This record gives sequence, C-alpha cells and structure tokens, in this order.
Amino acid sequence: MRLRKILLDHGGGGKASHDLIKETFLPQFNNPFLMELDDSAVFKVGKARLAFSTDSYVVEPIFFPGGDIGSLAIYGTINDLAMRGARPLYLSVGFIIEEGFDLSDLERILSSMKDAANKSQVLVVTGDTKVVSKGSVDKLFINTSGIGIIETNINISGQNAQIGDKVIISGTIGDHGIAVLSQREGLELEYPLKSDSAPLNKLVFEMLEASSNIHALRDPTRGGIGTSLNEIAVQSHVGIRIFEETIPIKEEVVGACELLGLDPLYVANEGKLLAFVDPHDVNKVLDKMRANEYGGEAQVIGEVVADHKGKVAMVTRIGGTRIVDMLTGDQLPRIC
Ligand code: MG
Repeated sequence: MRLRKILLDHGGGGKASHDLIKETFLPQFNNPFLMELDDSAVFKVGKARLAFSTDSYVVEPIFFPGGDIGSLAIYGTINDLAMRGARPLYLSVGFIIEEGFDLSDLERILSSMKDAANKSQVLVVTGDTKVVSKGSVDKLFINTSGIGIIETNINISGQNAQIGDKVIISGTIGDHGIAVLSQREGLELEYPLKSDSAPLNKLVFEMLEASSNIHALRDPTRGGIGTSLNEIAVQSHVGIRIFEETIPIKEEVVGACELLGLDPLYVANEGKLLAFVDPHDVNKVLDKMRANEYGGEAQVIGEVVADHKGKVAMVTRIGGTRIVDMLTGDQLPRIC
C-alpha cells in the first residue's frame, strides 16, 4: 500500500495541491461558497456583498529583495480580495513565532506591515500571536485574513471566462520567485532582481472603471501563470491559447530560470494579475492598466477558445504548439 503522507508537492499550489483540496478538504466542508474555488469567497450579509479570504505565509528567507514576509502577507490577502472585484477593508493577522526570534526583526516586519496596510488603505483590526519552542517552526509564519466589499453588480470569478475573451497579464512574470530564490541560494545575478510584491486593489479598481466586461481575474502566485491559467480553463470549461512571444519577462529571469532549470510559466508572482476581458473592451482596459504604476507592461498574451476545454495550449516562439499543464512537483518550496 502507498504510504499516505503529506509531501512538499501538496503545498506547491499545482496539481498535488488541487488534488489534496478536492479529495481531502472539500468532502468535509462542501458548500456552494467554497466550491467556487476562487481567490475569495463572496457572500451577502444583509444588503452588502462581501469577499472573504485567508492565506498563510512561510517564505524563506523572511527578508528578500523588494519585500519581506510582512508586506507579502498584507498584499497577498489584499490581492485575493481584489481578484473578486472587492475593495479590501479589514484584515486579521496571526503570527506563529519561534522561540529565540530576534525582537528587532519582528519590529522591522511589523513596521513593514503597517506601511503595506497604509498603502493598500486597509486596517488590521484583529490578530493573534503564538510562540512555539525552538525548532517547532522556522523563525516565523504569518496568516492574514481579509474582508472586502463589492460595491457594484459585477460578478468576477474564475468560472466566468468566456470564449473570445482576451487574456491580459499586468507585467513581467517570475520576478518574485527568482528574487526570493536567488537570495536563498546566494545566486549572484548580474542585475539584482526585486520581488514584484505589491497591492493590486487600485489597479483593479481602475480597470473596473474602464470596463464592466472583465469576467475573471487571478493573481498568478504559487504555481505561476501556467497553473493559474489551467485553474481558469477548468473552472470556466473553456480552452485557453497563449502566445509565448507576447509574454513579458525580464532577461535576468530568463537567464536565472535557465541556470536553475525552471520554467518561468510556473514561477511565482506577487504583484501581477491575469485578466479575462471582453475583446471589445480590451484596449480601454489596457490603457488604464498601463497608466497604473503596477500595470506599465501589461500585455495581451492570449485568448479563450472553444477547443481543448479545460486545457491551456501555448504557441511557441518557433511556431509549434504545446500543452501547458498544471505544475506537477513543487519546484520552489516556501516561495510565499
Ligand atoms: Mg490568489
């Protein structure tokens, strides 16, 4: 009999994570809000439509170029709320801290969280702290949960991509994963890379001002755009075709991926979004995105098609077509 143990793969955000959720978690908590499998749950309380999301952060190292575990924990939950079209309002923050952790490092992380919350215009309104004995966790882990409000009738969900929609990426892929990994492995990059960790709520707000025909949004974090596109293809029962030569990526990221044997399609982003937009509104949305500090390099990278439902195909630079599967194996543990 196969040993039934949790493996690193189960936390990688790819195929094994999805299988674990489907086979082990969903049977216990089956309800229509959870079954949407979106970045946040959306429900009504009185007349208000609210979005609610939670995420835990275990990134290693806790300080990396362009951010730290604290700002990442704030922006990650902000972004999951924004991906349903919600305006983030209130966050909770929970810490699990290893005995012996440096108090000045904790203060540095808290100060970074305060700045991140201010920048995103949210309040941390409740929290929790646990300390465990040395070796029981590595330094510190953070959980954030958040509530946002959806103020219009929009219905943005990974289930709503439509055949004909254009697929937009808000900027270069793989920056976060490679920045964290190069810090962790002590890689000397010719041009040091920074994580793209950033709050996307204002960008989404401006996109929604430009168009009421944005059907789906997703922040391609763990598992990269390869995994996020697969999720949406499955959720919406559509095919997705992307064009390799249109995908924005920094030279340094291409180089580091070659060196490390990684496929940039599966490398994590923390300040990027994928948008599925009605083709008539695509230029309006792109204009708004490119005027925002976090969307300057926004590009159309593909389209939603009627063929190969539930799958993602990529037209390569040399003109061939290959299927892009969901990430199998955890290529980068503890990346967020
Ligand atoms: Mg997300």
